[in-house]
Amino acid sequence: MIRIKPYNDASIAEAVDLWRAGHLVAFGTETVYGLGADARNGQAVAAIFKTKNRPQFNPLICHVADSGAAFALGVETPLARVLAEAFWAGAMTLILARRADADIADLTTAGLDSIALRVPSHEGARGLLTATSMPIAAPSANPSGGVSPTTAEHVAAGFAGGDEPRLIVDMGACQGGLESTIIDARGATPIILRPGAITAEMIADATNLTPHSITDQTDIIAPGQLARHYAPRAKLRLNATAPRADEAWLGFGTAPDSEHNLSPQGDLLEAASNLFAMLRALDASGAEAIAVAPIPFEGVGVAINDRLTRAAYEDDADAT
Ligand code: AMP
Ligand code: MG
Repeated sequence: MIRIKPYNDASIAEAVDLWRAGHLVAFGTETVYGLGADARNGQAVAAIFKTKNRPQFNPLICHVADSGAAFALGVETPLARVLAEAFWAGAMTLILARRADADIADLTTAGLDSIALRVPSHEGARGLLTATSMPIAAPSANPSGGVSPTTAEHVAAGFAGGDEPRLIVDMGACQGGLESTIIDARGATPIILRPGAITAEMIADATNLTPHSITDQTDIIAPGQLARHYAPRAKLRLNATAPRADEAWLGFGTAPDSEHNLSPQGDLLEAASNLFAMLRALDASGAEAIAVAPIPFEGVGVAINDRLTRAAYEDDADAT
């Protein structure tokens, strides 16, 4: 049963406790209601994808209370500093290099070495983020493919009958409208990855630079600069029953036993939280090919299979 509580000291305390325990809490922002989880906790972030029934793992935006918290997770650049001073708190998301010491689940960034950070200006969102020291990963609080919710009642209707989010903190109607502007601030020039409430003109005024936009067909962009998805270098063979001589093994559930098992218990949330780290570890081990155990196409298993399928090659020699 999903509960809606008004925004006050009691609901703030409850939200923080629920986040700490790995649950989901929906809350208002200056754009729409977000479905938030502790961004450090891979299984909590996996529950976001499961609850939204989102069939793909895309990197999520981390919400934090202030610039200091943002630059503890992403590498500060001179450009990012200027943009943060001009537009935070507000509807701007910065893409920064993920700091090596950042305590963030791989699933939050979908395995990327960059991180998306935002400091919302909405009073209620700020109240929650200030009360917790956690970065909160939060996409819009609606089932995948649905309309972004601007009231607590919209959120409740979208997830009726489910067990997450455990709590919706009612902050009244959100403004809706434009999403946050996503700016890659890793280099010297701002690159607008998604247009939004903060316009190119506003960015130019603040930085004295002409922002690039990925929609500018004339832009020459370094390969990989805009890669939004981590892909393993090794080739994957899916639905395998066992590894061949030249293959590393990525298991799920019982046998065959191996060093890399997404979830020995067959828990899909655990598997999702381990996916990117294990693909990276297998890549790093120098494996040319990885055989992967079958993953059920249910719940967050759909997104796990999507990610694996994108990197897989056709080979049905194992088929029976
Ligand atoms: P939403 O799920 O609507 O909040 O959208 C999040 C957006 O942020 C998606 O378009 C993501 O692709 C984008 N995003 C998040 N992290 C990154 C990243 N590290 N690099 C580029 N885009 C990102
Ligand atoms: Mg959305």
